[in-house]
Amino acid sequence: MNIEKSKELFAEAKKLLPGGVDSPVRAFRAVGGQPLFIERGEGAYLTDVDGNRYIDYVLSWGPLILGHAHPRVVQALQTAVTHGTSYGAPSPLENELAKQVMRLMPNIEMIRFVNSGTEATMSALRLARAFTQRSKIVKFRGNYHGHADMLLVQAGSGVATLGLPDSPGVPQATTADTLVAPYNDIEAVKQLFAQFPGEIAAVIVEPVSGNMGLVPPVEGFLQGLREVSANDGALLIFDEVMTGFRVHPGGAQTLYKIKPDITALGKVIGGGLPVGAYGGRRDIMEMVAPVGPMYQAGTLSGNPLAMTAGLETLKGLQEPGVWEMLVAHGSQLMEGLKTAASEANIPIQPNRIGTMFGLFFADAPVTNWETASRANTDRFAQYFRSMLAQGIYLAPSQFEAGFLSTQHGTEEVEKTVVAAAAAFAGLD
Ligand SMILES: *Cc1c(COP(=O)(O)O)cnc(C)c1O
Repeated sequence: MNIEKSKELFAEAKKLLPGGVDSPVRAFRAVGGQPLFIERGEGAYLTDVDGNRYIDYVLSWGPLILGHAHPRVVQALQTAVTHGTSYGAPSPLENELAKQVMRLMPNIEMIRFVNSGTEATMSALRLARAFTQRSKIVKFRGNYHGHADMLLVQAGSGVATLGLPDSPGVPQATTADTLVAPYNDIEAVKQLFAQFPGEIAAVIVEPVSGNMGLVPPVEGFLQGLREVSANDGALLIFDEVMTGFRVHPGGAQTLYKIKPDITALGKVIGGGLPVGAYGGRRDIMEMVAPVGPMYQAGTLSGNPLAMTAGLETLKGLQEPGVWEMLVAHGSQLMEGLKTAASEANIPIQPNRIGTMFGLFFADAPVTNWETASRANTDRFAQYFRSMLAQGIYLAPSQFEAGFLSTQHGTEEVEKTVVAAAAAFAGLD
């Protein structure tokens, strides 16, 4: 595989940007080699600057559920851009996207659009603290909620992959009220509430964890969180930045039938443009300025191009038969990977929920950060490099989820399984 142009660009980028990248997870540190510079994306495929073509299972880390440059998104954007790129004033598009989101997630009675998942979770926590007039929050080890100071504790993939347990520059005081429990451990959460009764503003959770690899909730965990937090008067925040519109069109809250008080959204909601959102119970959302006293603002929030991409993406996802097709391809992919691994005698722990999937090189089931971190990272690095060389672009870390789009058809899935069989067969 010739990647000469990527090499040149990366050498230059390293002088211009820290590590040559604008987000650390792009850096290939965990798997060796160097990031590829991308020229274009089309459907299920990425093409790098040297002309190599890959089936893409990263999809910009989740947002592109209709694939790259979907005609309906591109056409709508082309029209929208001629109407101006930002108004700093309300536009009908914000109502439209709000209504689409609420139809899919009826627990959201009011919504505020922001520009990223980080902003969404950060604002959701400020809101929970304002509403409950309490300070402490509970998060889970290995869950990532963006890079806001108070959340940068035991924060999963990006941080873990680089071996940074916490980040310098985060003052002790900002995380002093952040309590951490193991994922899928309801007893640990009960203990925290017993220890700090009436002090916890909110529990924030990835209802399906996608930032330590894909780790589903165990039976009763989410229900337990709902009960324990409600009993103490604390709020339950579902961080559905990744799971929203991906584990089910209505997110994890619809799939598992749990009603969070606040939901944070991002990724798919912007269809590849920068959008985040938080929303939930009307009485809580009415705390947000200008109705209420909790301040939160944004120059580009509700941006018309971003709203357009999100709107078209959610509409495309709701076309008849689309979800069923996504799930069928997902299941075909996972069955293929399982068969290939067992034929090569490689123990794996595969998981798929809706359009998110993951695979750990491990003997025992993975239910939390501790068990995830026992997975074999050397094997993953070999597997990753073999897949890449065969034209399959996976996230460069075992502790990331994989994503499907509507453009990944039977042909792409079959190619992926053939490549995986070869990759498994070559593992040490
Ligand atoms: C990606 C992600 C975020 C952060 O979103 P950004 O848009 O990258 O700021 C927050 N929470 C979860 C669960 C995520 O997967």
